[in-house]
Amino acid sequence: MNSDVRVMESIREKVEAGQRLSFEDGLALEACNDLFALGTLANLIRERYNGNFAYYNVNTHINPTNVCVYTCDFCAFRADLGDERAYVMERDQIVERARQASSRGATELHIVGGLHNKLPFSYYVDVVRWIKEAAPEIHIKAYTAVEIEFFAKISRKSVETILRELMDAGLGSLPGGGAEIFHPEVREQICGAKASTESWLNVHRTAHRLGLHSNATMLYGHIDGPKHRIDHMVRLRELQDETGGFQTFIPLAFHPDNSQMAHIPKPSGVMDLKVMAISRLMLDNFPHIKAYWVMLGLKTAQVALAFGADDLDGTVVHEKIYHEAGAETPQEATVAEIRRLIEEAGRVPVERDTLYHRIERDGGTWSPREHIDVPGLALAGADSK
Ligand code: SF4
Repeated sequence: MNSDVRVMESIREKVEAGQRLSFEDGLALEACNDLFALGTLANLIRERYNGNFAYYNVNTHINPTNVCVYTCDFCAFRADLGDERAYVMERDQIVERARQASSRGATELHIVGGLHNKLPFSYYVDVVRWIKEAAPEIHIKAYTAVEIEFFAKISRKSVETILRELMDAGLGSLPGGGAEIFHPEVREQICGAKASTESWLNVHRTAHRLGLHSNATMLYGHIDGPKHRIDHMVRLRELQDETGGFQTFIPLAFHPDNSQMAHIPKPSGVMDLKVMAISRLMLDNFPHIKAYWVMLGLKTAQVALAFGADDLDGTVVHEKIYHEAGAETPQEATVAEIRRLIEEAGRVPVERDTLYHRIERDGGTWSPREHIDVPGLALAGADSK
């Protein structure tokens, strides 16, 4: 048996025993070219935690402004203040979007945007309040850690105060964006000006302490390498050990079009599935791993359900950020389409809300039911301490 085979054998034994994988194990997984072996291992954890279920939600995106003071190299969404593409959504547009979402039966509004040079923090609080007034039943998942840190800076308030004011207005949870790649060798090159790794983690730490759940992302497939991706996952895993507040990890495939990194090709299908599988294997304390179909394409997202993913995100409807960067996926997936993709993959579709309660629908109305618990998770956490 050569040493590579021996290493993979020892990783398989650890996975079967519910033991935590080390940083070095992560690098060994990255070096493994046997995609099906990786998928089989990831699927063990995926099914241990989430059985044969695959989750989705009914949601809509709102990007209140595309004006941004930062110039991240990979971003095709941002605009300068005087740019003809620049926009800021007014109250009427936000309220209209919330009412449309409500009439379509959406359970979630996902809100992220640029960091505007001139808007005060009160605008971002108002966005949440306007939505809550127009559609009180919808969960508001709003503002990345980068935005929260920026609000703290422009208002000279603490992160905790910012989060409390947003929660008072109706904020329900935080999305996972802005994480990109934590390792300084990459972060400083692609988005050095915006929230540091420590700030990003600290916003989520504070949010979890205040009782908010959040997600986490990783933008891969540009100038990152294996050690950067594994480092990223290990940092998230450590914070999750501390707080337990993350729900879902979402590996985001880099899209180069219209960005300053347009010369770098998109990650391949093999890389997409490999990163998905390794995420499931390394992030043993995350209940869910999401195949975000907008970034992956519906077909790869469907296949990812056999490579560690248990969630496809939602119907989405108004996605701008990744479509500006060349995503060729449709703007919207219907519930029927998502359910068909899940069923064809041999999984059982389950509609969830943002906080992972099962959703029951009766005609035009919906109601949250029991929380979707992940039984194997406590075991993995306990083994890891
Ligand atoms: S990724 Fe976000 S912070 Fe960076 S330039 Fe784009 S909108 Fe601004």
